[in-house]
Amino acid sequence: MNQAVPSKLPHIGTTIFTVMSALAAECGAINLSQGFPDFGTDEHLAALAYAYMKKGMNQYAPMPGIMPLRERIAAKTEALYGYSPHPETEITITSGATEALYAAIAAFVTQGDEVIVLEPCYDSYMPAIELNGGKVIGVPLIAPHFELNRVALAAAITPCTRAIIINSPHNPTGAIMSQADMLWLENLLSNTDIILISDEVYEHIIFAGTHESVLKYPRLAERSVVISSFGKTFHITGWKVGYAIAPAPLMREFRKVHQFLTFSTATPLQYAIAEYLQQPERYLEVSSFYKQKRDTFCQLMQATRFSLMPCKGTYFQLANYSAISSEPDTTFAIWLTKEIGVATVPVSVFYRLPKQEHFLRFCFAKTDETLERAVERLAKL
Ligand code: GLN
Repeated sequence: MNQAVPSKLPHIGTTIFTVMSALAAECGAINLSQGFPDFGTDEHLAALAYAYMKKGMNQYAPMPGIMPLRERIAAKTEALYGYSPHPETEITITSGATEALYAAIAAFVTQGDEVIVLEPCYDSYMPAIELNGGKVIGVPLIAPHFELNRVALAAAITPCTRAIIINSPHNPTGAIMSQADMLWLENLLSNTDIILISDEVYEHIIFAGTHESVLKYPRLAERSVVISSFGKTFHITGWKVGYAIAPAPLMREFRKVHQFLTFSTATPLQYAIAEYLQQPERYLEVSSFYKQKRDTFCQLMQATRFSLMPCKGTYFQLANYSAISSEPDTTFAIWLTKEIGVATVPVSVFYRLPKQEHFLRFCFAKTDETLERAVERLAKL
C-alpha cells in the first residue's frame, strides 16, 4: 500500500502533554508541563498493589470493576455529595478518566449530534466527539477568570445538542463552578434530553469552598455521567484507574462501549485502591496538601514578571507572560523550555481555534525543590 492513509483526524497532531514532556526531556528542562507529580505515592498504597499481585489477583477483573471498589466509591459519593449510586448498575471502573470520557461520548454521540464544550477544554474531548461523528460547539469561558458564560451557553443549545461537557475544578484554568452555576444549569437543561458529561477528576483538589459535584443536584444527576480518576487523588497517574457514575439506563449504554474499549481495568490496582479508600482522610487531605504547593509556588513566582491568575482547584497555575514577551504562547513555551529550561503548556492548544491570550499553564504537583529550581530560572526573565 503506497498511497497516503486518509486520516479521521486530519487536524490533530500529537497531544501537547507528550510534545512538551518529550521536549523537556530532550532539553533537560524542568518539567512543569504535563500534569503528574514528581514525588512518589504513599508506600502503603504501592505495597497493597504488590500484596494483591502476590495473592494472585492477576486475571481479568469483572467488566464493570471489582465490587469492593464500586462499593467504596458509592459510600464516598454518598458521604460527600448525598447521592447514592447503586454499585451494581450505576458505577463502572475505567482505565483512567480518559477511557471514561471516550466511552461516554461514544455511547451517546452519533453522526450530526452537537456537543457543547466550554473552551479552553481538556484536549481529549474534541477528538473523541469528532471520531464519533459529532460536531464540536465551543462556548468560551469568560477570560481572565474563566467563568461560565451563561448567555453564550444558553444561546449555543439547539435541537441537535446531544451533550454538554463540563469540568470543575477546571483544567487548564483552575477555575471552579459555583452553586449558582449548577442551579442555573439545572434550569437550563430541564425539559431537554441533553446529557451532561461532568469531568470531575480534580474533585479532591479544591481550594475555595467545596466541590460542586453535579451529583449534589438531583435534576442534573439524572441526566449525567460523572467521571473521576484516582490518578489525581492518590498521585498515581500511571495506574490509569478512573470511574464513571451514571443512572442505570445511561450506565447500561456506557458499559456497551467500555466492554469493547478496554473490557476491564487492572485487577490488583483496583483491589489496592478499594482497600486504601477505607480511610477517608486519604482523599480528604489532598486539597490541603496541594493548597500548600500552590501557595509555595505562587509565593516563589512573586520574584518573576509572570502575572498569576486565581487558582481555585486542580494542580495547575495559569500565568500571563505579557510583561515578558509578546510572542504567541506556543512559540514562547518552546523558547522557555529550550533557553530557560522550564517546560510549561501553552493554553491556546486547549481551544478549537487557538486564541492568543499569552497564558502558560504551570503544573505545581512537584517537590518544593523542583518548584524552587524552576522559579530560580524563571526569575531571570
Ligand atoms: N491531564 C494531564 C494534563 O493535563 C495529562 C494527561 C495526559 O498526558 N494525557 O497535563
